Amino acid sequence: TNNILEVHELKKHFPIKSGLLQKTSGYIKAVDGISFSIKKGETIGLVGESGCGKSTIGRTIIRLYEPTDGQILFKGQDISHLREAELRQSVRKNIQMIFQDPFASLNPRKTLRSILKEPLNVHKKYSGKERDEHVGLLLEKVGLNASFINRYPHEFSGGQRQRIGIARALALHPELIIADEAVSALDVSVQAQIINLMEDLQEEFGLTYIFISHDLSVVRHISDRVGVMYLGNLMELAPKQDLYTEPLHPYTQALLSAVPVPRKKGTTQRERIVLEGDLPSPANPPSGCVFHTRCSAATSECKQIIPKFKEIKKEHYVACHLYN
Ligand code: SF4
Ligand code: MG
Repeated sequence: TNNILEVHELKKHFPIKSGLLQKTSGYIKAVDGISFSIKKGETIGLVGESGCGKSTIGRTIIRLYEPTDGQILFKGQDISHLREAELRQSVRKNIQMIFQDPFASLNPRKTLRSILKEPLNVHKKYSGKERDEHVGLLLEKVGLNASFINRYPHEFSGGQRQRIGIARALALHPELIIADEAVSALDVSVQAQIINLMEDLQEEFGLTYIFISHDLSVVRHISDRVGVMYLGNLMELAPKQDLYTEPLHPYTQALLSAVPVPRKKGTTQRERIVLEGDLPSPANPPSGCVFHTRCSAATSECKQIIPKFKEIKKEHYVACHLYN
């Protein structure tokens, strides 16, 4: 298999504690049975509204969380339940995460030298001079100047800080990078620069990306395949061309109807589909298809039976009874 990552029926439920004794009164089903795999060098985009579980799945794959159920295979190794010491051996340097606000995760009192050297201290035995050289190289790789090494995070713009965040993620030569809303806080022109940089780095280092965002246009640009999440479930997953031009799932169709999408000649923009009702609580998701409370195509079957996530066309998966 050339899959770098396989996720099988992954679940992450968070207990809801209440009362004086902090008894568990229920669970937030943030990720509720998701399966997909990624080939080396590929980019998968995960989209969905806030609260759909896309951040949780990223944090579970990187093992900031332990899965409640299911499996995570990284290069064939089951990392689902590894302990911290074992994670440090293999996973921690091979899978890195880039977050929305790099500033929040950069210590304001540290220079770029010490911020970017930190990961090296843990994993490698370099001399001080070698580390400085390595940090300088990292800065150049992300389009910054090696002489910035003595500066502090507040001296940089949002886009430059995200470059620093990327440099830090790259420090240990990871194979998989999970970007969670990595460009969402940036201006559109800066977003494009960061995405271009990520594409260049992917080519140079053979990186694999999971690109998480609520923004369908950003995801469309960078991804090979795109998955659409709703209430902890993957509703549809397809090569991006298929997903954006022929979405099958009613939820994907609704999401796409709200954004202008470049269309084939002779076709028109899809009519806007407005979703009725509110997003249900992930503590108490609807029975059957979790989307049935807001789906105009829902039948009585949808309220009772959970649709299987099935391959309808080559590499095009959808979880919906309309396609049985
Ligand atoms: Fe709508 Fe039913 Fe399909 Fe769910 S399974 S998306 S409710 S048609
Ligand atoms: Mg999020």
